[in-house]
Amino acid sequence: FSNLAFKSRRLFSSSSRCMTVMPAWVIDKYGSNDALRFTKNASFPVINYPNEVIVKVFAAGLNPMDVSMRGGYGAATLSRKRDPLNIKQSGSEFPLILGRDVSGVIMECGLDVKYFRESDEVWAAIPPWKQGSLAEFVVLSANEVSHKPRSLTHTEAAAIPYVATTAWSALVNTGGLSKDNCTKKRILILGGSGGVGTFAIQMLKAWGAHVTVTCTQNAEHFVRGLGADHVVDYTAGPVEEPLTTLEKFDLILDNVGGDTERWALTLLKPWSGAKYITLITPFLQNMDRLGIADGMMQTAATVATKALKNLARGVHYRWGFFAPSGPALDEIREMVDAGQIRAVVEETFKFSQVPQAFNKLEKGHARGKTVVEIS
Ligand code: NDP
Repeated sequence: FSNLAFKSRRLFSSSSRCMTVMPAWVIDKYGSNDALRFTKNASFPVINYPNEVIVKVFAAGLNPMDVSMRGGYGAATLSRKRDPLNIKQSGSEFPLILGRDVSGVIMECGLDVKYFRESDEVWAAIPPWKQGSLAEFVVLSANEVSHKPRSLTHTEAAAIPYVATTAWSALVNTGGLSKDNCTKKRILILGGSGGVGTFAIQMLKAWGAHVTVTCTQNAEHFVRGLGADHVVDYTAGPVEEPLTTLEKFDLILDNVGGDTERWALTLLKPWSGAKYITLITPFLQNMDRLGIADGMMQTAATVATKALKNLARGVHYRWGFFAPSGPALDEIREMVDAGQIRAVVEETFKFSQVPQAFNKLEKGHARGKTVVEIS
């Protein structure tokens, strides 16, 4: 891991075709942490479309999705997204680079890129079907990228994009919330102490909502420090019992799943447009298990049945998903630079310590984000 190892090198093949390689952590098969392999010879990203940019990675944020993907979660769906015509051999995604968050500097812009220039400091959340940020460079579409908040270091900035664009997609696009309609709204966040929760609390408080959060007792001080108005300890007994005694909610963001669906929708104000949005969905598992066509059918049937059943009770049932978005990150940058949202970095690791960073993630009990410093 000398400095030299981190310098991308230009090599020339026997046919004089210019090839480049770079340092990266890759997996060559799905599995446990043993599958992670450091290489100095990962393929250098290439601009294939005129709206793409290559970013030199300074810091990479990790998410539970990285642990899941390392184990093969979503492999069938993501492979189809990478190869829609299904012409490549099985396993063509390897060597696969994980890491969904990036903060860094633009190194090269495609011909149609107008909004960015070389050397601009940027942040982005990387879609899971693309090569990730545990590498010295990554290629992204310009519309997935945003100028990084000036008030944050790269390490801090890499803690935000994936959870922020997930929370934005769930709360704004699916939930219909905005800075103009949140005042006096009562929001419940199930699972407030992790990546999505710590971001969502701050965004909703900045927009004037009243925020109730579930977490363990030892995280209460932490989530109150981020602005949570009311905190319920989910380890003190069945959590639905204290929640049922509270005034009903306008929106619930579920970062926990499990049996929460059984009781959470009863906590919503009926016949008022109130919504329950869960991030824990069987979408990718269905496709992995049943194949793309049957998995889609099963998914559509499941969500439609649940939505209709709950509509009859006067509440809305929705699934929330990560959605990459440079424009959403532009709005989030303004909130960060205005001091309304701070990065919550729980632990940082060096580039040489990526397996340790995955070990930490796998232990759970996150209190914010895990970030790998690349350079
Ligand atoms: P994290 O691992 O960062 O945080 C999870 C948090 O939940 C931890 O702080 C954990 O702490 C807490 N927790 C665990 N069990 C409970 C419980 N029963 N009640 C309340 N809190 C609990 O995950 P993220 O915030 O990044 O993501 C949350 C979930 O959303 C993950 O399952 C993730 O896979 C999913 N997700 C889905 C996306 C989608 O596109 N659908 C996109 C992004 C995330 P402790 O155990 O100490 O209580």
